[in-house]
Amino acid sequence: MAKMPCFLCSKELELRRDKHKKPYFVCDSCGVQIFVRGRQGIENLEELIKTLRERDFPFREHARVLHEIQACVWPIAF
Ligand SMILES: [Zn+2]
Repeated sequence: MAKMPCFLCSKELELRRDKHKKPYFVCDSCGVQIFVRGRQGIENLEELIKTLRERDFPFREHARVLHEIQACVWPIAF
């Protein structure tokens, strides 16, 4: 199953297909929906998923960077 990290919380999102077979992702916790409609976007997405699959680390790396950013931002925000 193809997966991609949510850009807000880094949770792994499963690739879904709409009735026209176009790919999209939903993050329930963030309420984010990512729809990829264009041909170029779909090609780029396939390439990205392939790259993510080849290298396991981007998910962990993404989470680490996200947590670093949150550590900087949250004390200011609250
Ligand atoms: Zn999310």
